[in-house]
Amino acid sequence: MPIYEFKCNQCNTQFEQLCRLDWQGTVACPACGSKDLAKALSAFCSPGSGGGKSCAGCAGGNCGSCH
Ligand SMILES: [Zn+2]
Repeated sequence: MPIYEFKCNQCNTQFEQLCRLDWQGTVACPACGSKDLAKALSAFCSPGSGGGKSCAGCAGGNCGSCH
């Protein structure tokens, strides 16, 4: 599963969350509990997309599922 970076629209907390592609409604801010989040990092690392050779969203090296 990809790691997404989120930014809370309520308190501007940034955090990373390992989550499914359909994260909306399932991820909440750890600081205030809001689900009004902006995804700060677009991680294209769903298995099977684009052959999975390179993953621009996983440049941090934390995505082991797409290589
Ligand atoms: Zn928040």
